[in-house]
Amino acid sequence: MLHILKLDVGGIPQSWINAEEATKHYAEGSIAWTLGKPVAVMRGGISRLSGKQSVIELHSIIATKGSSRINLFEVIPSITKAKLYKRDQGLCAYCASLINESEAEAEHITPSSKGGCYSWMNLVISCRACNQKKGNRSPENAGMSLMYAPYIPSLYEDMILKGRNILADQMEFLAANLPKNSRLLQNYTATNFLSESSSEVFATDFQ
Ligand SMILES: [Zn+2]
Repeated sequence: MLHILKLDVGGIPQSWINAEEATKHYAEGSIAWTLGKPVAVMRGGISRLSGKQSVIELHSIIATKGSSRINLFEVIPSITKAKLYKRDQGLCAYCASLINESEAEAEHITPSSKGGCYSWMNLVISCRACNQKKGNRSPENAGMSLMYAPYIPSLYEDMILKGRNILADQMEFLAANLPKNSRLLQNYTATNFLSESSSEVFATDFQ
């Protein structure tokens, strides 16, 4: 499934949208600018005047008119276990073993019974064994230390965390806006994404 990165006119990420939603923006003229390669061609009806079929090329990154009026530094992305798993790269925070996503647990550093919340700064990915061993205790009380520190993802990091099949040029745009020490950059090299279907072009009918 093709996902197009939608930005506001200032380049601030808004969401991942599908080809139909992107086509709507092109058709209503709300695109301010685009980046990246055309990734799909949408074919519409035949114009009565010109006798030509209308064609819209979708780019992998689109910016729509209007700005989102958000303060980048104040936004806290919503948290899900899937995003947490990606943030923590599937590694148990206590024994550093690589865990399958289905077996990974979202572990409260400060237990909820002691006032710890379900938040980016209080959650890490843990294997079942470590989670059970730690139980209802703080890491200090359990004598267990964290192998990495939790952090709140930026809006750009959040787009990577919730993205699927991110194309090379989309990743390049998002990566350019990450702090240099972002953990999400550790596994990132441009070539990782080049083999993706970034040049894939398909045609669909639109109204
Ligand atoms: Zn573990």
